[in-house]
Amino acid sequence: MEKIRVGVVGYGTIGKRVADAVRLQKDMELVGVTGNSYNYRMEIAHRNNIPIYCVGEESDFKANGIDSSGKIEDLLSQTDVVVDCTPKKIGKENKEKYYIPNKVKAIFQGGEKPAVADVSFTAQCNYKEALNKDFIRVVSCNTTGLCRTLSAIDRQFGVADVVATMIRRGADPWDIRHGPINAIVPVLELPSHHGPDVQTVLHNMDIVTTALSVPSTLMHLHTLTVEMRRAVTSAEVAECFRNTTRVRVVRNAEQVRSTAEIMELAKDLQRGRGDMPEICVWEEAIGTKNKKLFYMQAIHQESDVIPENIDAIRAAMGFLDAAKSIAMTNASMGIK
Ligand code: NAD
Repeated sequence: MEKIRVGVVGYGTIGKRVADAVRLQKDMELVGVTGNSYNYRMEIAHRNNIPIYCVGEESDFKANGIDSSGKIEDLLSQTDVVVDCTPKKIGKENKEKYYIPNKVKAIFQGGEKPAVADVSFTAQCNYKEALNKDFIRVVSCNTTGLCRTLSAIDRQFGVADVVATMIRRGADPWDIRHGPINAIVPVLELPSHHGPDVQTVLHNMDIVTTALSVPSTLMHLHTLTVEMRRAVTSAEVAECFRNTTRVRVVRNAEQVRSTAEIMELAKDLQRGRGDMPEICVWEEAIGTKNKKLFYMQAIHQESDVIPENIDAIRAAMGFLDAAKSIAMTNASMGIK
């Protein structure tokens, strides 16, 4: 079997994780990653024998003892699919500047507008829509979390409409540039962009979202109120989530009571980087009143989209079996 040749453009929070996940796949080969300046991430990539292709000045790498493998165009010339993990808006620029002229398929991240791609993507919801597409956008970490749990309960019980609030981490743990440090910052735009973003994947989902940012770096937390088509019990919903891939039911009873304890659990599971790619739903916070369902879920923003990128690569290359791709990705990454 010929391996899918993958390049990663942008080697930050998401890019370094995607690169590592690609290296775990038996049907993929990591051709290399881009670097635009020397830093500790580049040093580790070099030590792990990952070829580095320059976007910026090569001299910066040379001065620090790294020979680059060429320019970004050299990476693209050997690549079937590129995963663009650059900051928002740069993916769109890269599409026009590099991917279209070099006839390379590209996977974009949720920071890009939906129009950058032929399809917005969450593997367990709409894999088939992305088959053989040239440009696929993996939706944001928050949208991925909403899509995974809402699609599961919609399939099993039927969802009439959804109101959800995103309590978002202020910055990633390593990030010294963003905040807030001592405030809660509401998004003063209704609805927040998350609801319309969910509809790019779950086209018929009736959903309204609000959002705010808090001084925490670990995870996002969502509270959801869902009007169901029929009355459901908490136990039925917990069982549904237990049977849903990339969703984990966590329990107060096991003293997993906070985002901090979820992150500690991920470390104890000995996941790479202490990641938790599954969306974590608290069993004791699943409640009902008439046809209304309430639940809370936590999102590890740095890792939930990583398996989605791997499945998006296979979909772009025409691998037909969604369930098989998800199972292969999960097995390689130790995901439930
Ligand atoms: P990041 O800042 O951690 O990493 C971006 C990387 O791209 C950096 O290494 C930077 O040097 C590099 N870069 C910048 N300009 C470049 C260019 N012109 N060409 C090539 N490389 C360039 O960003 P991130 O958090 O990994 O986010 C990447 C994308 O993933 C964004 O669309 C973001 O919205 C999305 N996303 C982020 C998270 C998160 O929580 N961090 C979660 C889900 C999705």
